[in-house]
Amino acid sequence: MVGLEGCKSSSGTVSDGDGVWDTLAVEEQDFWMEEEAIPYQAAATRSMDLVHMKLQLEFDWKSQQVKGLAQLFLTPYFYPQKMVVLDAQDFEVESVAISRGTDYFEGLNYRYDEKELQVYLPEELVPGDTVELVIYYVAFPEKNSGEGSAAITDTKGLYFIDPLDTIPGKPTMLWTQGETQHSSKWFPTIDRPNERLTHDIWLTVPDSMVSISNGRLIQQESLGNGLRKDYWKMDLPHAPYLVAIAVGDFAKVTASHGDLPLGYYVEKGFEKGAAKVFASTPQMIGYFEKTLGVPFPWQKYDQIVVRDFVSGAMENTTASIFMEELLLDEREALDSEWDYIIAHELFHQWFGDLVTAESWSNLTLNEAFANYSEYLWNAHRYGQDQADLKLVVEKEGYFAEADTEPKELIRYNYADSEDLFDAHSYNKGGLVLHMMRRQLGDAAFFKGLNLYLTKHAFQAVEAHDLRLAMEQVSGQDLNGFFNQWFFAEGHPELTVEVDYSKPENLLIRFSQVQDLNEFPVFQLPITVSWYEGAVRKTKTVQLTKAEQEIALENGNPISLVYVNEGQEILMKGNQVMSNAQYLQQFKESQLGVARYAALDSLVSREAAEELGVVLPLTLEDSFAAIRERGLSLLLGGDQWKETLAELEGKIYRLAEEDTDNKVRAGALEVLAEWNPSGYRGAFTRLARDPSYLVAGAALMGLARVADPAVELSWMETFERETNFRMSVGLAEYYLENKVLGKGPWFEQTFSKLSGEGLYYFMGYYGSYYLEVEVSQKEKALRQLFAVLEYNTKDFLRLGAFQTLLGFVMEEGVLDKMVAIAEKDQSEDLQSYYSYYLELLKEEN
Ligand SMILES: [Zn+2]
Repeated sequence: MVGLEGCKSSSGTVSDGDGVWDTLAVEEQDFWMEEEAIPYQAAATRSMDLVHMKLQLEFDWKSQQVKGLAQLFLTPYFYPQKMVVLDAQDFEVESVAISRGTDYFEGLNYRYDEKELQVYLPEELVPGDTVELVIYYVAFPEKNSGEGSAAITDTKGLYFIDPLDTIPGKPTMLWTQGETQHSSKWFPTIDRPNERLTHDIWLTVPDSMVSISNGRLIQQESLGNGLRKDYWKMDLPHAPYLVAIAVGDFAKVTASHGDLPLGYYVEKGFEKGAAKVFASTPQMIGYFEKTLGVPFPWQKYDQIVVRDFVSGAMENTTASIFMEELLLDEREALDSEWDYIIAHELFHQWFGDLVTAESWSNLTLNEAFANYSEYLWNAHRYGQDQADLKLVVEKEGYFAEADTEPKELIRYNYADSEDLFDAHSYNKGGLVLHMMRRQLGDAAFFKGLNLYLTKHAFQAVEAHDLRLAMEQVSGQDLNGFFNQWFFAEGHPELTVEVDYSKPENLLIRFSQVQDLNEFPVFQLPITVSWYEGAVRKTKTVQLTKAEQEIALENGNPISLVYVNEGQEILMKGNQVMSNAQYLQQFKESQLGVARYAALDSLVSREAAEELGVVLPLTLEDSFAAIRERGLSLLLGGDQWKETLAELEGKIYRLAEEDTDNKVRAGALEVLAEWNPSGYRGAFTRLARDPSYLVAGAALMGLARVADPAVELSWMETFERETNFRMSVGLAEYYLENKVLGKGPWFEQTFSKLSGEGLYYFMGYYGSYYLEVEVSQKEKALRQLFAVLEYNTKDFLRLGAFQTLLGFVMEEGVLDKMVAIAEKDQSEDLQSYYSYYLELLKEEN
């Protein structure tokens, strides 16, 4: 699964050491007290094995209920059993019987408490015996729907979306989300990740809709009353949380990888966009198959984009479900950046679906791999620099969490299984795999993965299964590696000092400065590198002690040595460097990620002199992220006016010719800020560029052109555009030029946008009514309050709050904000709100 972080606009910050430790010292006490109350969570005991399920479902869209008939085939796992315990949440159980061929045994004794169904068998079963339970039930997914986790925002298991088609523009559909243990909200099962079953599912759906489930569609039978029965067969065993269905008026785009059928399901009208968004799927499958030496394990692979999904995406076996942010039209898809999430769910088909973490404590065995697949695909498709930079972003996400809440990667003590979906299981897990790969070498690492997958195919696994596979292939004992990275908390914090007094034999002093009362002394192979002309030389140094000094014996004299230049080690702290040395690093390093880091260090030190040299170089850098970063730095402040004047020609060429649309847009932004009238012609032409990134930035440039301003009627031709980048550019123009009478366009655009687009547009929307159409503020307030009160996405409620802050001088606004803010379901937002509202109340 992938969380929603992809569409949040906040960026993580990494705190420096000071102060963090003070906070930790206080929290530690609470932590120990709490820990006693946090239960140890073993893998579920396997009493009965659920082997096969036949499931017939009918949907009552009006009352949002599911009518079900489940036939469950069970056998004792090892010990004789007299009872079957099933998970069945919030059902009305109508009858429970045992079927023996054509006979029904109905006088069963069972107990149901709306969570578990305990069925007492008439006679004890021994291994080899199979019992068929026949259960008629009604499921009520809406009942007791809860809060979920950071990654999954609800626990209904099955979701009816606009079931009676009452919301204009919103399609009617239903879809499921099983992870962690929510499949038992719609069918009775043993809802544990170490269970595995095959199944046949029959879905009765409206004739106008399509259904998607795991495995193969075997048969479709018209029932003659506007309904149809679809039969889906899953004949390979997988875990209950991976069972899924989706039903809706979807269009299907077909593709293939060899004999493997692929389907991309989207709302009608988005077929061409879907073909582009998911275009990499066949190559990705081919690449992963080759890397792992294991063919795609399942019958087909469908990817389905739904509305209101409770997570980023979910890896249901053969049927991954994605959030609506992946619903792009053909033109938007030109700039699609969703490959990472597509790779993540695809890699889960091996890691998670074929081999499955035996318990949520071991969740990282699913998520570390899915997370790391994003790196693998990035490096393969977009180059090493891009992949390395992504790893740095992952690291920062982990530090943001580890600074306040360090925990073990594999942790058996937790209160709620949803708590495992965090930056440890994902980010740290992926980074640890990367370090294991570097330590073992590519050949051993991937051969180890092959052994792990083939040996444990269709089985539940724990961390030691991975360790043993890697040990068997490499001949190395990896207990130390696993103890330090999987079973202990923390990461190394290094201070590195280099003595350059003997340039042909540098002395490097490493100090591990993490709190050694709490964290281990890390055993760490670390790469030291330097350049002799254009030749990059490297040496691996083994750190084993808290304080260690190493003579490099480099031979030829060198002026600068780099420790962890490629940023591959999960560690904090850095080597002690001067501004001049960072400048040298930027000029000399062959690794994009190291040049990027040098630039960042100079920026955070406000090293104006060195930046004056570096900024022009960023525009010629081979790594697009550096060109983009350089442009955004030039945009900030008057400081670079002189530099800009010299670079104008170069920036214009980037706007016209760069291969990366984000760089082109960044260049246009600089030109729009610097000299909008001078580029009027270019902006006018590029406002029709196929890329919305480019066209939106050009439109923004036109909004800034004054004297004479761009003609209103020409700008109005963009009112039909639905992409938010265009809407934002146009809104800027209406604001800058104080164009009256655009209320209806602002209203319409506001109601059409959602997600990230709405977030950006909201600020312009507020400003228009505050600064231009001031007599109609009421309209704006109504829309903004509706978002603040009812929108299900935290970042959008936050956006509405921030926009409403502009209106607090209006009668009653502050009181209403207070009233709504108090009821907000997010604790984080509530404390953010109350901070500002208290300040405002004091002022007024
Ligand atoms: Zn995942």
